[in-house]
Amino acid sequence: MSDKYSSKWNFMWIFGQKVTLPVTVAVRNPATGEVTGHVPKGGQAETTLAIEAAWRSFPQWSRMPAKDRAVYLLDWADRILDNREELAALLTQEQGKPLAEARGEIEGAAEFVRWYAEEGKRAYGELIPASRPRQRILVMRQPVGVAGLITPWNFPAAMVTRKAAPALAAGCTVVLKPAKQTPQIAVALFQHLMDTGIPAGVANLVTGDAVAIGGALLSDPRVRKISFTGSTEVGKNLMRQAADQVKRLSLELGGNAPVIVFPDADLDKAANAIVSNKFENCGQVCNGINVIYVHKEIAGPLTEKIVTLVKRLKIGNGMDPEVTMGPLIDETARAKVEAYVADAVEKGARVRTGGYRLETGGCQFGSFYAPTVLEGVTREMALTREEVFGPVAPVVEFESEEEVLAYSNETSFGLAAYFFTRDTSRVFRMAEGLEFGMVAVNGTSLSVPQAPFGGIKESGTGREGGHHGLEDYMEYKYVALTLE
Ligand code: ADP
Repeated sequence: MSDKYSSKWNFMWIFGQKVTLPVTVAVRNPATGEVTGHVPKGGQAETTLAIEAAWRSFPQWSRMPAKDRAVYLLDWADRILDNREELAALLTQEQGKPLAEARGEIEGAAEFVRWYAEEGKRAYGELIPASRPRQRILVMRQPVGVAGLITPWNFPAAMVTRKAAPALAAGCTVVLKPAKQTPQIAVALFQHLMDTGIPAGVANLVTGDAVAIGGALLSDPRVRKISFTGSTEVGKNLMRQAADQVKRLSLELGGNAPVIVFPDADLDKAANAIVSNKFENCGQVCNGINVIYVHKEIAGPLTEKIVTLVKRLKIGNGMDPEVTMGPLIDETARAKVEAYVADAVEKGARVRTGGYRLETGGCQFGSFYAPTVLEGVTREMALTREEVFGPVAPVVEFESEEEVLAYSNETSFGLAAYFFTRDTSRVFRMAEGLEFGMVAVNGTSLSVPQAPFGGIKESGTGREGGHHGLEDYMEYKYVALTLE
């Protein structure tokens, strides 16, 4: 490895130790194509060591009072915030998102830790009224055990804490595997966790071969729970593997989020909220809008407003503070977006803005794609049915509430849906009728620590955030006590 590319974050964490390996995996900056670092290519052997460490440290950590575990977590949150600039820059260089978004993600990551440090203290049990005089019915809540956490590249900081914070607060010990595109930010976040003096082995991190690491996590009976965020395809594969040991699972998978704009909506607010959701992180957000359903009476003016806002986006290297949209994560992602746009155009969609890859302006090696708005989109086009995961806003016109509700639900996914209206009765009809785990009304932002984030149907199972997210790392134990 030449010095030029040597990175500060070139190790894993096992039993509180920094572990390096002779074989490494390169990490690239998606804005420049440059190699920014290397991480060890860990596999089954390293994962098994990490599981061993987590398993050995579980008795001590799980028995520690929640308020003492919270001391480490609160310290972790403070350290993340104290280092937010360095972490945000690392995140931008590894993931591509604009610095302001990266800063927001780091702050959000710290918020999850802080919130769960407190919520861990409220893992109350129950005393249930019994049927007989000498009987007592107790329900205890206990941590699941060692948890395997598999995180994606689109929010590689927030997903680390959204999983690790509730797990640790509940009393679980963890082995985390970050995505290969964005491992360094996870290693850096763990550095700050280790600096709190958290007991060795409570939190471990393995980088490298996803299939080998995943296989080791899924096949080891000491791992009692898997929490995964990523593609539906990999999620289904993990679910099949988990069946052998009936492991507890939380899966946060793909989505196909509709946003529906009714004619009585505030169009300026709707356009702003849609553009900020749709083009955040270059459209690579699991709960990001995939299709924009606009009532035909307002399709013209709303599309115009969206196009105006999209044209204001400044595309480039996220390290430039003026930039508001970065590159796609890699060339594969860009090729996929291109294919969806080509299919739509071939079937009659009209490009209002964008619709091409960006190769110039010093960005020739990055995986940039122009923010795109398509109108005249129909439901025969693949991009309305599949998750595009890129900066493409397809506008589909509709005529009635019943029709658009049916269109929206006609997907195997069920993560998030959005709609804009000022009619209170319609708010309830739509919120009740949409088959999604999350629905936002007159707004498009969802992820906060205190609310249960997650999907139904093929978008997954389990919730992250809220007391629900803590419960996902705990088991109920029913104790039937007969008094002597
Ligand atoms: P995406 O399609 O968004 O890249 P993936 O589902 O491929 O998402 O990846 C999400 C996470 O799952 C990453 O950490 C990735 O390395 C991991 N992963 C991919 N394949 C497997 C596998 N077979 N077993 C375990 N983890 C995997």
